[in-house]
Amino acid sequence: NRFKQYNIPAYALRLLDKKRIQKPTDIQERLIPSAINGKDVIGQSQTGSGKTLAYLLPILSRIDTSKAEVQAVITAPTRELAGQIFGVLKEITDEDETSSVRAKQVSGGTDRSRVMEQLRNPPHIIVATPGRLKDMVGENVINVHTVSMLVIDEADQMLDMGFLEEIDPVAGKMADNLQMMVFSATVPESLQPFLRKYMNNPKHVHV
Ligand code: AMP
Repeated sequence: NRFKQYNIPAYALRLLDKKRIQKPTDIQERLIPSAINGKDVIGQSQTGSGKTLAYLLPILSRIDTSKAEVQAVITAPTRELAGQIFGVLKEITDEDETSSVRAKQVSGGTDRSRVMEQLRNPPHIIVATPGRLKDMVGENVINVHTVSMLVIDEADQMLDMGFLEEIDPVAGKMADNLQMMVFSATVPESLQPFLRKYMNNPKHVHV
């Protein structure tokens, strides 16, 4: 399996083998090494390019499970997309027999008090829609000061839907050394102010 060349957890490799995912796609090949090294990345691609694993595998390789704190936040513009991402993430972490990686989905349209209850024991990874994320951070239910990895999936849609304005104050509270990974079908000029504010010399790959 060509994914062995990357420093990814054994349980993730096992899941890839099970699914016969053996050869990185273009975007994975070009972004995974940089992302594993903590670099900011922009992946300009369509759905179907393999972008989800391009950020999930580096995140899983960088999570420190000895710390019970939120370390990575993945945001998506819709509950459906957040659910799909969470599904892929759970499929991988279910291969981790010691179940040491904890992930939670935080999106609108689900019972708010139940989500708050579930977040009392902080997960390592949160997959969220922007509104509910901002709400939970505002209520101090999620502490994002410890977050060192932030994914913005479908960034162009996030911008169009006004969601970057909700992510902005949350991102501002994250760790100083925040690694941001942005994925978008298009990277319009109007996205640049946000990217410039949070990204440091990102590796931009267009597939
Ligand atoms: P995505 O672009 O992340 O939505 O992924 C699209 C589909 O491609 C998903 O069903 C993945 O399971 C699959 N996939 C991702 N990476 C690979 C790969 N390296 N080889 C084969 N299939 C893949």
